Amino acid sequence: MSAITEVPQKLTFRRYKDGDHKVRRWNQQIFQSSYSYKCPTYIQSTPPCQGSCPAGEDIRGYLGIVRGTEKPPMGADGKPTMSWQEYAWRRLTEANPFPSVMGRVCPAPCESGCNRNEVEDHVGINSVEHFLGEYAIANNLAFSSNAAPTGKKVAILGGGPAGLSCAYQLTLKGHEVTIFDEHEHLGGMMRYGIPGFRTPRDVLDAEIARIINLGVKTRMNCRVGTEVSMEQIRKEFDAVFLGMGAQAGRALPTADSEAANVVTATAFLKAFNDGRLQHVGKRVVVVGGGDTSIDVATVARRLGHIEHAKPTDAELAIAGRMAHDVADISAKQGADVTLTSVFNIDKMQANKHEIEQAQAEGIDIRGSLVPIGIVRGADGRATALRVMRCEAKLVGQRLEIKNVEGSEEDIEADLIVSAIGQAVDFTGLEEFNNGKGMVSTDKNYLVAGQPGVFAGGDIIKPHLLTTAIGHGSIAADGIDCFLNGRDLEKRPKIDAHQFDLMRKMAEKGIEIKQVNDPIRGTDKSGGAVHNFDNRSERYVIPHDKLFLGHFSYVPRNQRDVITLDKESALGNFDERLVALVQAQAVAEAKRCMSCGMCFECDNCVMYCPQTAVSRVKKSESTTGRYVTTDYDKCIGCHICADVCPTGYIQMGLGE
Ligand SMILES: Cc1cc2nc3c(=O)[nH]c(=O)nc-3n(C[C@H](O)[C@H](O)[C@H](O)COP(=O)(O)OP(=O)(O)OC[C@H]3O[C@@H](n4cnc5c(N)ncnc54)[C@H](O)[C@@H]3O)c2cc1C
Ligand code: SF4
Ligand code: SF4
Repeated sequence: MSAITEVPQKLTFRRYKDGDHKVRRWNQQIFQSSYSYKCPTYIQSTPPCQGSCPAGEDIRGYLGIVRGTEKPPMGADGKPTMSWQEYAWRRLTEANPFPSVMGRVCPAPCESGCNRNEVEDHVGINSVEHFLGEYAIANNLAFSSNAAPTGKKVAILGGGPAGLSCAYQLTLKGHEVTIFDEHEHLGGMMRYGIPGFRTPRDVLDAEIARIINLGVKTRMNCRVGTEVSMEQIRKEFDAVFLGMGAQAGRALPTADSEAANVVTATAFLKAFNDGRLQHVGKRVVVVGGGDTSIDVATVARRLGHIEHAKPTDAELAIAGRMAHDVADISAKQGADVTLTSVFNIDKMQANKHEIEQAQAEGIDIRGSLVPIGIVRGADGRATALRVMRCEAKLVGQRLEIKNVEGSEEDIEADLIVSAIGQAVDFTGLEEFNNGKGMVSTDKNYLVAGQPGVFAGGDIIKPHLLTTAIGHGSIAADGIDCFLNGRDLEKRPKIDAHQFDLMRKMAEKGIEIKQVNDPIRGTDKSGGAVHNFDNRSERYVIPHDKLFLGHFSYVPRNQRDVITLDKESALGNFDERLVALVQAQAVAEAKRCMSCGMCFECDNCVMYCPQTAVSRVKKSESTTGRYVTTDYDKCIGCHICADVCPTGYIQMGLGE
């Protein structure tokens, strides 16, 4: 076992700046024109983790529940209505119904954005998500909906993450949903692309079953555009969501490179995931550099080759033309796998850890090579990939490649796999093609010029699972508006699932009284949440608005990864990632600095020189309403804001 990454050993922020040691007059230190004479306000903002999660999960919210700051609601018997693990899972799945899958394969852009990177290392958000997903499966947690049926019917074309996410959100709103999918099973690329040693099929099945059990109908083995027409769909349904993804692989971008043993990554992985592909040839060359190419290379390495097998076995299985001959596992030997990328290895798009794992498994990764053609044998099949050294860089979205003349080289191959991207198959659905091989939508994911037709996921732009899930969720809001005859909403600048203080207060049974006269509440009035402002939809709180000095160095609790080598990878289809145990997950959640939301540290209560800040009485206190200010006592010294670790207190009231 080995840890995923090196943990930084030093704090990266400085508690004091140069010049802080100089003694200044006390009134210069306390009174500053920008915020003195103003009293504290409580400002909810979006933490950068949440702002960077394409599915818009309330990350701070579920980490707060795991760490024990926010508690599940109490029942009439005075006991919690559910465990904290379930409460956290329910908060998470409001945005994303796939925490177990996500916890395994999401590259976690949330962690790159995490403010804790400014202290020592990001919070292991993805590993807590993984833990919660595992808890839910082990405890058979189910979704439930109490929305009244609306009688409206929605067709979802494609049962990948985008379609399933949209189906989930629409069903929770009371609409009747039918998913059409050309495959036998739901899941899209989660099942037919990503191999089972990364997304175990029992985990995937459990998370999909929960959505279907809400009452979602399915029509499997049914391709819209060929078996069912759009005309029929429009007749039978009130709205449509296009989530067909990008199923077609892209061929090698070189002239005359068609051959039986030159295949695409999507065809290769589908044949493997369908169980048709049982072994590959002795030498496999994968062209790519992204995650898909790593999946192909690691699958090829695990499959290995059989010394006396026919050289055409693998390509026929990939073409779907024959069932595999029953190979004797013990006769398998490791295949030599080479992966080429136009980028330098350190610039490849694939996840760095996946690159390292692939190298440990003996895959020869070669950067800065551009394919220029194939070399053929007498039978017309490829015998090698011809490459040239190159320098590649991205200029905006455009890839610029400069070849190094005279550096041609042939890499011998029995099978060449092109993993350089995917395309949408528009057969029978040409009306949605924007002319560039994709579908165009607006911010509500409404398809241009097609009322009632929405789209999301890879069909718009191939990206990540979490992105497809986010699109499906936002499109469901648009479809709901459309079905109810409402105008589509203007989406907020920061389009995420946010903590809702009013909902939290209602959940706890705290009465929010009607505001009469005067319109604005005061600290003496129960008529309004008078000094609170939710700016989450427009403000992401940066690290320099936090009091980072409050947080000391705490190493990240990392999951173990089982690293295989050249020999042990052969025939090993076991999962390599080990979930955190509960104590580790709680410890990891405790590292969260709760950016932009009170986490009940009591600093403001302790440090206020006027004793103007006090705790809200227990029966009325809840997350985000933990402290209150007595404005008769407050002198606007801003000490409470200075010592607030989370940036929740800002000076503002009183202007
Ligand atoms: C090999 C590989 C590895 C990847 N690894 C990762 C990873 O580690 N992490 C990550 O976040 N992302 C990863 N991705 C990207 C991720 O899988 C996709 O971004 C995501 O699956 C897109 O979801 P989707 O629902 O838009 O499309 P898909 O997942 O492609 O699902 C589309 C569904 O629509 C069905 N369909 C298509 N056309 C029709 C039709 N006409 N009628 C009926 N049904 C139809 C298909 O059968 C399919 O089930 C990977 C992708 C690949 C290919
Ligand atoms: S889905 Fe990905 S980006 Fe979002 S919280 Fe999970 S790991 Fe982070
Ligand atoms: S410290 Fe917590 S709230 Fe802040 S960005 Fe990181 S995970 Fe999000």
